[in-house]
Amino acid sequence: MALKRWIAGSLMLACILCGCGTQQVQTGQTNGSAAVQQETDETGSASGSGEPSAMTDDELVDPPLGEDAVSEDAEQLPLSGLVICLDPGHGITSASRQEAVSPLSSETKAAYVSGAVGNSQTEEALNLVVAEMTREELEALGAQVVMTRQTNEATVSNIERAQIANEAGADLCIRIHADGSEDSSVYGMSMQVPAGSLLGTPSIEAPSAQAAEMILQAVTEATGARNRGLAQRSDLTGFNWSEVPCILLEMGFLSNAEEDARLAQTEYRQQIAAGIAEGVCRWVRAR
Ligand SMILES: [Zn+2]
Repeated sequence: MALKRWIAGSLMLACILCGCGTQQVQTGQTNGSAAVQQETDETGSASGSGEPSAMTDDELVDPPLGEDAVSEDAEQLPLSGLVICLDPGHGITSASRQEAVSPLSSETKAAYVSGAVGNSQTEEALNLVVAEMTREELEALGAQVVMTRQTNEATVSNIERAQIANEAGADLCIRIHADGSEDSSVYGMSMQVPAGSLLGTPSIEAPSAQAAEMILQAVTEATGARNRGLAQRSDLTGFNWSEVPCILLEMGFLSNAEEDARLAQTEYRQQIAAGIAEGVCRWVRAR
């Protein structure tokens, strides 16, 4: 059956990617003197104002693969029974409002923030394409995938993104972003992880860090990208409201011309998606 061959092919790809990497994953700062530089992400300014376009539950939750896929074979796939939330960062919206940065704090931040912009692409579009590719990889391995958005025009706040993962009972939420920096020479991939006293669910800290290390390692192996390590964030709304393990991949810097060009290539994007799926497999085996 064609599906079986396709799944077998995907598994072979996963096996090829599953090398015994010797690269050391480092936690925290990995590039000498400077801390890992992040785009402003949730802290940037949203532009304009207007009518939010609400997404329905139907748009947010992917349907199952179909009867063929939900056969006895699904039970034997490596990620069977796993629920993964994929959160492609940002979205095009004219809405503007504030929301609480944490369930434990009255401090607020912008609910909708524009992403980074490169010469070749805008971040929200890149994030969505890679998320869709990652969904295909994960579903082929048997996972159930929930998306926080499936269109570039989307008004989804950072609290709402966390709530989608929470309500799905996700085993892991992977937030997919790209970086920007004032310094165009900065490049590489990093993973942001929840930390600090504003976390509504402190117990997500350890499993998130474990998943982040394994997935960042796998993605940098799959792509050859520079591994900039993990960065602990106590200020991200999407982390502080998350009740499930949650990590944020920064796929590279759109402000770096070479990395921006690489991130515009379909093959490179596919390598990122395959690397994420491989990292999820490693995490599932290890946890
Ligand atoms: Zn971003």
